[in-house]
Amino acid sequence: MRRRLAEVEAIARQASEPTFDNTVVALERSGPLLTRAVNVFFAVVAANTNDTLQRVQSEEAPKLAAHNDAVYLNDRLFSRIRSIYDRRDALKLAGEEKRLVERYYRDFVRAGARLPEADKVRLRALNQEEAELTTDFQKRLLAATKAGALVVDDRAELDGMSEAEVAAAAQAGKERGLVGKYVIPLQNTTQHPAQASLRNRAVRQRLFEASARRAERGDTNDTRAVVRRLAKLRAERAALLGFPTHAAYVLDDQMAKTPEAATDLLNRLVGPATTRARSEAAKMQAVIDSEGGGFRLAPWDWQYYAEQVRRREYDLDEEQLKPYFEVGRVLQDGVFFAANQLYGLTFKGRKDVPVYHPDVSVFEVFDADGKSMALFYTDLFKRDNKNGGAWMNSLVGQSGLLGTKPVVFNVANYTKPAPGLPALLTFDDVNTLFHEFGHSLHGLLSQVRYPTLSGTNVARDFVEFPSQLNEHWALEPSVLANYAKHYQSGQPMPQALADRIKQTRTFNQGFATTEYLAAALVDLDWHSLPANAPEQDVVAFERQSLRKHRIDLPEIPPRYRTPYFAHIWYSSYSAGYYAYLWSDVLNHDSYDWFTEHGGMTRANGSRFRDMILSRGNTEDPGTLFRAFRGREPSIEPLLRERGLK
Ligand SMILES: [Zn+2]
Repeated sequence: MRRRLAEVEAIARQASEPTFDNTVVALERSGPLLTRAVNVFFAVVAANTNDTLQRVQSEEAPKLAAHNDAVYLNDRLFSRIRSIYDRRDALKLAGEEKRLVERYYRDFVRAGARLPEADKVRLRALNQEEAELTTDFQKRLLAATKAGALVVDDRAELDGMSEAEVAAAAQAGKERGLVGKYVIPLQNTTQHPAQASLRNRAVRQRLFEASARRAERGDTNDTRAVVRRLAKLRAERAALLGFPTHAAYVLDDQMAKTPEAATDLLNRLVGPATTRARSEAAKMQAVIDSEGGGFRLAPWDWQYYAEQVRRREYDLDEEQLKPYFEVGRVLQDGVFFAANQLYGLTFKGRKDVPVYHPDVSVFEVFDADGKSMALFYTDLFKRDNKNGGAWMNSLVGQSGLLGTKPVVFNVANYTKPAPGLPALLTFDDVNTLFHEFGHSLHGLLSQVRYPTLSGTNVARDFVEFPSQLNEHWALEPSVLANYAKHYQSGQPMPQALADRIKQTRTFNQGFATTEYLAAALVDLDWHSLPANAPEQDVVAFERQSLRKHRIDLPEIPPRYRTPYFAHIWYSSYSAGYYAYLWSDVLNHDSYDWFTEHGGMTRANGSRFRDMILSRGNTEDPGTLFRAFRGREPSIEPLLRERGLK
């Protein structure tokens, strides 16, 4: 930080007239050591933390926030940026250069560069506090999720689980020093995959409650006070920056532009999604009643009975699929194979590159012409010291200016098999692998000059588009045939089974869309509070928000409840969880383009690579999309794909 500040000071204090090179390019070149340290540090802290790293994080997060403010609230520097920005047409800058100048100007203004000094002081204090609170939230949530794991004493209570799942639960118990007990660790979502197989209703209920209430137990892991303060603080900061709400501030810089546009898209789906969810619930209630269950479907029953319905309607059971989805094969013969078919990429394992944990693997990536172009890391198994969910990020971003090749990684939380057993995935897990690799492609195939505009440094509601599009290839017949092979016999998945996966694509989409919409709407409501609103009761606020949007189905709680909604309190998705749906519109519409033009061909892949994946943020995302699709996005393909029409 000290070195970068010295570099930035030198740029700001130059006597010569501001030029693109001596100011903007100089800033792009500044702080390589800090970038390197920060990228590595936060990658490891998210995926493999410990007490020391957490302490360093708590100490450094507010210092990093202050460092950022020292750059963006530097008056001399801002006046140089503004001078270049005001002359941007006269300077006849090329497209990417002009976009970069506009990006810098916008970033400075959004960070408060135009504010009077007294407001800057207040802004710095709010940014400090936010950095402390988000770090605190992450720490509490990690501890709450670990502590919330379901401990089962009696193997009989796991009735319904496969041998491999029971072995994994026993292993998880052993790792926690609970020998002879069984542990089901919590995922980051409200619902858990184990719910689909657990026959014992009381155990399902215990697992659900452990998950849904993990961070509101009134202990040191309770996040509610942090959340209340964060929402209030963000509203105050937005007001300082001239916006009515934090959501308005965030959305101003996104493809959606306004909270109204995002809310409108979500609301358009509430009716179709809940209608479909209610009919899904009715089918499950019929199963319960036919078995003489004598109870009403509850949230902890949903996945179990969904699985029963799926078996009856489609004769398909998750356990039949898993032997065909061994993780190594899915990655190499599925995910990598698809990238080879579309973009000509090849991958070679590298054992000589140092890693932070034995579960991490490294691959060198080669372009179609055989040139080495990048490194790709995977870290796929669940650990108690890893944040929940799955994500992609970069250790090194691509840049023509800096001559850097991308180093990107994917992290997931797949159940780690007991020693000696293969890691077999659900089809959801397979989808996640394709999804995260779609983000990786956006990083790997970047061909941009300036680091600020490179790879996945794009609007939140655009960044999920390449990753969602990549999910489609998991079911492409030529790809599926290449990776879905039995882990023991090597036999390909029978065609009838493959067909059934496709037939069930819209199965349970009422539920999936509803739990997502609920979370996305609650996020927008939290961040639509004005600065003068009092601090809110977290649980009551969430309940009111769900009721207001008519998405308060008792059987379908939000995918993340407020106290463990890491996307919006810790990751940078505040007022941005809607982005998955926004991007999904672009995704399905683009997949239709592929279908209309001959499907998964190298030519089509090259076109997508040239027009989207390689472009980073060098153009407005709407412009990039329209150039690729040939028109404005249409919502119709999404409605069709989710069976909501
Ligand atoms: Zn994603």
